[in-house]
Amino acid sequence: MNHYDAVIIGAGIAGLGVAGLLQGRGLKTVVLEKSKTPGGRSKTYELPGGWKVDTGTHCVDLGKYSACATLLRKLGKEIAWSRNLEGFMFYDGGTWKPMTEYLALSPKEIRKLAEMENWIRQTGDEEIDALDNVSLTKFIEEKVSSPRIAEFVKTVGMVQTTLTEADIISAGEFVAIYRDSLRLSSRNNFPFDNVRMPVGGIATMIGAMAEAYTEWGGALLPGTPVRRVNVKLGGLMEAVTDNETFRAPVAVIAAPIWHMLKVLSMEEMSGFVPEWTVRMRGFERETSASMGFTIGTKAPLFTSPCYLSARRLPDMDLPLQILGHSLFDDTIAPPGHMVAFMGACCTPAQAIDKDFREKTLAAFWELLKKMFPSMEADLLWKHDGFYVGIDGLSRSPGMTGRYRPPVYLPEVPGLYFAGDCYTGRGVGMNAAANSAMICADTILKQFNTTTKTIRKEESQ
Ligand SMILES: Cc1cc2nc3c(=O)[nH]c(=O)nc-3n(C[C@H](O)[C@H](O)[C@H](O)COP(=O)(O)OP(=O)(O)OC[C@H]3O[C@@H](n4cnc5c(N)ncnc54)[C@H](O)[C@@H]3O)c2cc1C
Repeated sequence: MNHYDAVIIGAGIAGLGVAGLLQGRGLKTVVLEKSKTPGGRSKTYELPGGWKVDTGTHCVDLGKYSACATLLRKLGKEIAWSRNLEGFMFYDGGTWKPMTEYLALSPKEIRKLAEMENWIRQTGDEEIDALDNVSLTKFIEEKVSSPRIAEFVKTVGMVQTTLTEADIISAGEFVAIYRDSLRLSSRNNFPFDNVRMPVGGIATMIGAMAEAYTEWGGALLPGTPVRRVNVKLGGLMEAVTDNETFRAPVAVIAAPIWHMLKVLSMEEMSGFVPEWTVRMRGFERETSASMGFTIGTKAPLFTSPCYLSARRLPDMDLPLQILGHSLFDDTIAPPGHMVAFMGACCTPAQAIDKDFREKTLAAFWELLKKMFPSMEADLLWKHDGFYVGIDGLSRSPGMTGRYRPPVYLPEVPGLYFAGDCYTGRGVGMNAAANSAMICADTILKQFNTTTKTIRKEESQ
């Protein structure tokens, strides 16, 4: 019998998180995942010769203090974290410069930056909520007098959100993420020093979540795509797969909006929540994108455990993000070798435009050869590609904080959502983990364990 207390669609961070938290509280749950392996956008691929390569940089903002780490602890798991990020380096006029040298702030500007950071450190949640509909450009106009500090703020916003322009970055999300970094940092001159990666790649974190879930008796079914979710108000929700229909009073769609729209009928939903339906359709392509290279080399191209960036790449007009993953974790490459991610943030439209992409990747590779003159001689393998949908729904004005699509719609009791497109702050994976915890808490408040039904009167 395919009757459960909750059926969860998707085994990414959010799906595994919600499922584990519910299963741990005694609910009988099942996770249906279309891929052959769990992890969603957070996966690690093993290549012959001892390489473990992540789908992307997969830096966990705040490391052991992150929402991901909190979720793991709630699931009864701890993992080992890599060495921490030690700084930013910027590409400027043909050379790499440490952040302080690149910004070259005057003593007055240093005081101004400290004032801005003090303001951010002390900002309350209500002030942040009020900034969710404000762009980072507007925030800079009001709070930042120096062009060089403005440049720094734009770069941090770009790194946090993978969005190319300050105009489309939410000031609320920028301040919320920056505030946590400042409050938890032990350094004065670099607040992002808690950024770390799971040792062994992001699969270590996914593996721990999946293990917690199955150890508690959860049913994880990879290779089981859900074709349709049928909403049955007052009855059992249905998740229909190719071979079976799974029924439960609770259905959680733990997949990004662009996948959710494929399994949930918007015609049907418009009868219950017409405005939500219009918003969701409009959000299908509101996400971040990137193109670039993952490479393996027989010697390190650089040795600083820093984030390498440029607000705009020369001649390409796109922002740069480079991370030498193996500089933080000795277990993911053969000794003395390097795994590095080299990405240019772009818009989804640019990423899917084949001509633009081919020209940009060719120009980018030529530029990288100039940036790292030993690269071609040391290159062992190279993957190029693009990704649309990096961090879920864009962290743009009017889409963060209380504006984010909710995990629960009071008009449709029993149907829930989790992941980096729904309520939950933070950089990608932390947003997914936060959303999972909010979603599970909401379900546990509303689920009547005796009657196995949802209490309709309580809302989010
Ligand atoms: C290249 C790249 C680099 C990134 N770098 C970082 C980083 O450095 N730091 C950071 O914090 N974040 C990063 N992210 C973002 C991070 O990967 C995501 O925020 C996070 O993995 C989202 O988790 P999720 O559970 O919300 O969604 P997902 O991981 O997308 O999980 C959704 C799951 O649902 C499944 N699914 C969808 N439809 C169905 C269906 N019909 N039936 C069954 N299953 C279905 C999918 O297969 C998937 O497994 C990066 C992402 C990418 C792509």
